[in-house]
Amino acid sequence: MALLLCDLDDTLVDRGRIFGQWVADFTRPRGVSEHDLAWIDALDGGGMTPREDFFAALVQRLRLAVPVPDLVEEWTHDFPRRYRCDPGVREGLLDARAEGWSLGVVTNGDANVQGRKATAAGLDELVDAVCISGALGVRKPERRIFELAAERAGAALDNGWMIGDNPEADIGGGHGAGLRTVWLSRGRNWPHHDYKPDQQAPDPAAAIRQVLAAS
Ligand SMILES: [Mg+2]
Repeated sequence: MALLLCDLDDTLVDRGRIFGQWVADFTRPRGVSEHDLAWIDALDGGGMTPREDFFAALVQRLRLAVPVPDLVEEWTHDFPRRYRCDPGVREGLLDARAEGWSLGVVTNGDANVQGRKATAAGLDELVDAVCISGALGVRKPERRIFELAAERAGAALDNGWMIGDNPEADIGGGHGAGLRTVWLSRGRNWPHHDYKPDQQAPDPAAAIRQVLAAS
């Protein structure tokens, strides 16, 4: 059975857009400047900045009278709940399944937060396995996490595909695990010379369609 693995943040779900909505909701009652908004976006680092550091810096910059742990806890509950797959992604995953593909999500991050994101996005029903580094003790780009995902999705790694936006974790990792890869370029140029994705796609729905068409 053919295997399709997908990254979660900024792949199956547009985290950037959801983060923008969160920032708008968080800052609206606090009246921050355009300059602050750009600063918050940079501080987030595409989600890579630990939330304790993120909120500690935010509290200082905006002079908020709220304890950092309270903000982190609120984030942990509120942010994952906002996750949704675009209709095109949902359709693509349903089509893949109807064609007999085994589907898995492979994501790096906290088990609780990433699990809640996947559930909110409806992915528990759409894929065969949701594999989270925080739960498995291995992370992309390590080969082991792709092996575990294949195992849990009930398919072999051979003839499998990986779709993702991160050149190293998703494409380098997928390539290293013997998967064919589709990179969501999002307007960026491919940054590496020693390996490259098999395909590039402008958005996740297109990436899924390309995989189904190529196999
Ligand atoms: Mg990603």
